[in-house]
Amino acid sequence: MNPFREAVLRNLQQPATRREEPEEDLHAKPREISDQELTEIDKLPTKAAACELALDINANIELLEFKTDVAARAEKLEYLRRANLSQRCRHVMSNGDTCGCPALRDQQYCRFHGQAYESEIDLPVIEDVDSLQIA
Ligand SMILES: [Zn+2]
Repeated sequence: MNPFREAVLRNLQQPATRREEPEEDLHAKPREISDQELTEIDKLPTKAAACELALDINANIELLEFKTDVAARAEKLEYLRRANLSQRCRHVMSNGDTCGCPALRDQQYCRFHGQAYESEIDLPVIEDVDSLQIA
């Protein structure tokens, strides 16, 4: 194994009380790393300095990944909010419940029930055992 990797792993495996940062502070802003630091990694004087830089880089990467994940979740939440605002299918099922699926744009029913009502033969919508029997 490469010595740099060993040093990083040793640092990470030390008990929390022996490390400089006893536990991860979620409010701590990761140290900003300059482009110069990244291009001069080969000039780092000690394993400890390399290890510190690796940990700082890791903290920055984790923050970026976390932000990306949060942004994706926020986008998903927005889609779900918009979906929940959409008009619902007005079909009333044999048990009295309404369908609840989003209705097609500018229509009263969802895709399934819209197709069922467009049928040339006037059959009840087949959606459960009872309606199948009736049909
Ligand atoms: Zn429906």
